[in-house]
Amino acid sequence: MKKSVSALLEQAATACAQARKGVALTGAGISVESGIPPFRGKGGLWEKIDPMKYAHIDALENNPAEVWQVLFMGITEVLQRAAPNAGHTGLFRLEQMGVLQTIITQNVDGLHQRAGSGDVIEFHGTHAVLRCMGCHRRYDWQEVSLATVPPLCACGAFLRPDVVMFGEPIDIKLLQRSQRLAAGCDVMLVVGTSATVQPAAYLPVIAKRNGACIIEINPEPTELTHHISDVPLLGAAGTVMERLVARVAQLRQA
Ligand code: NAD
Ligand code: ZN
Repeated sequence: MKKSVSALLEQAATACAQARKGVALTGAGISVESGIPPFRGKGGLWEKIDPMKYAHIDALENNPAEVWQVLFMGITEVLQRAAPNAGHTGLFRLEQMGVLQTIITQNVDGLHQRAGSGDVIEFHGTHAVLRCMGCHRRYDWQEVSLATVPPLCACGAFLRPDVVMFGEPIDIKLLQRSQRLAAGCDVMLVVGTSATVQPAAYLPVIAKRNGACIIEINPEPTELTHHISDVPLLGAAGTVMERLVARVAQLRQA
């Protein structure tokens, strides 16, 4: 028999209240309520153009000006207006309660750190810093003129945000640390990710194999929902997280 939403929420809260080594895996969906549209699915910014077409390293290498104008400047603009939402602050509260150890995020928006979270693995890098394609020197955005894009490094090569694009590898140290955390966690909260981008999507599988309880928060069913998730909570990250955290706090005090 299918469990009711409140029964699932109680099950998730109980697992979190007992956890000591929780890990969260987050994706674009956790920042939707902050006004940052995901690449997949509905979202004003990307309705006319397909960001996936621009998010591959080959596109950047072949046509840097266009990728800069469409993708990087588009992201810069929405990030300027964005602030953490109840999804981000909820994960910070779980860290304060000693439930959550680390957040592994696929996002490049820095909102977990702004919400206060102390240990955030930026699996796909960060949009907050620029890096030279030639000599790898890093720049702050303020140091760089955007009068023409792509901006150039002192060495003559062009700059790009320090993010991992499709077709590029994940930093091996971050990957290994994430895999170790996934294998050692007691609860994994998977929030706002379609779990289709590898190798991040494999982390819940590692956690599950090693006995962790997988709690998933997403308004839509995903690849994980039926076979990997122990507790699927259907709903928006902010709303669900608020209810979950309030209940975990009650159970922890009891
Ligand atoms: P994705 O494939 O993980 O898809 C987004 C997921 O969020 C979907 O499963 C969707 O159902 C879910 N979602 C939508 N609204 C939600 C809400 N309110 N609460 C919880 N979940 C919600 O990610 P993508 O958009 O295809 O992005 C591909 C890559 O680009 C990823 O690495 C992603 O992190 C990155 N990206 C990052 C940002 C950011 O930094 N905020 C934004 C867009 C894309
Ligand atoms: Zn350079």
